Amino acid sequence: MMIVKQPLRLLYCYVQKARMAKADFKGNKSYLPTKDCIVCKRPFTWRKKWEKNWDEIKYCSDACRAKAKKNTAASQ
Ligand SMILES: [Zn+2]
Repeated sequence: MMIVKQPLRLLYCYVQKARMAKADFKGNKSYLPTKDCIVCKRPFTWRKKWEKNWDEIKYCSDACRAKAKKNTAASQ
């Protein structure tokens, strides 16, 4: 069983790598995902610095994040 699984896993790794390599390609920006900022409602585009936590990014900028924090941290 293990012998059968191993090549499949390798293939999966290869596909993942190919995807990441594509995401690193800077020439064409049309593939980049976008989100709407929950503070100013304006769309913003994926950035390299967000590659590890893109799912958690909700704000287009530090300014909007600070605004959101002010609203939620009213209890302080
Ligand atoms: Zn914003």
